[in-house]
Amino acid sequence: MLKGKFAFVTRDDELSLEIKNDLYKFLINNGLVEDVDSPNYVFVIGGDGTVLSAFRKYLDILSDVNFLSIHTGHLGFYTDYQAKDYENLFEDMIVKNPKLESYPLVVVEAYCQNGNLLSKNYALNEITLNNALGSTYIAEIFVDDEHFENFRGDGICISTPTGSTAYNKSLGGAVINPNLDVFQVTEIAALNNLVYRTLGNSIVLSKDEVLTIKPKNQNHNHRLSIDQSYYSFDSLSKVIVTLSKTKKVTFIRYNEVSFWKRVKRSFIGE
Ligand code: NAD
Repeated sequence: MLKGKFAFVTRDDELSLEIKNDLYKFLINNGLVEDVDSPNYVFVIGGDGTVLSAFRKYLDILSDVNFLSIHTGHLGFYTDYQAKDYENLFEDMIVKNPKLESYPLVVVEAYCQNGNLLSKNYALNEITLNNALGSTYIAEIFVDDEHFENFRGDGICISTPTGSTAYNKSLGGAVINPNLDVFQVTEIAALNNLVYRTLGNSIVLSKDEVLTIKPKNQNHNHRLSIDQSYYSFDSLSKVIVTLSKTKKVTFIRYNEVSFWKRVKRSFIGE
């Protein structure tokens, strides 16, 4: 049985709150203590969006926290237990030793024209960069300071391996096993002509490579999305993305469901 402190991040609907109440009683009866600020375990009840918000809430203490989620939404890519059989979790917690699985995150740094760092953040799924007003986004793309391509199109999506099944997948990017320490760069509707020439395919970068995006019109309306959050910048000189060397997200697994089984369950069907 787990020992230590726990917290909940719960979607605000009747079913999720009901499951939370049951699980709360179970955890307290088994000697765990609620600690919302510095938990060892975060139980997430909801959908993938709830997992993303739980991750963000505990970003500063990520290395101390393990997540376990029960899904009450329509798709539960990150979640292990379904609402209809969530009571299996109680038995699993008593009789099984959990496995911990850690997945890589991307870190994004945005710089303004005088070279100062405007913002630094982490994504569990992906970051995207585009024009806030909907016009085409024009940028030079560098890998490790070497010019790679001139991009012009709707925008650029940079995803983690676990995020590869989210927005990246809709864009035609590859699905990546999250045991690989890599990140993926996928074009969003690139325009290709003699001036703006892009590869057209996603590229997968290693943990040591650095992606730099330099927007052509630095004073335009830049919109940076980080998972569910959106940030606007009037001026941006460059955005640097790498795989985080210091932070990973860790999930508790009582039942070994391979990543590919998870992909099949969510997208192809049993
Ligand atoms: P939302 O309510 O719009 O739902 C997005 C959908 O993506 C949900 O069905 C969710 O279950 C699914 N999803 C989220 N993470 C996933 C993952 N890692 N693998 C597989 N499916 C996943 O938004 P939300 O719940 O707040 O989630 C935000 C996410 O939505 C973003 O991180 C982005 O990946 C995704 N998104 C997708 C598109 C698209 O596919 N065209 C567009 C914008 C955002």
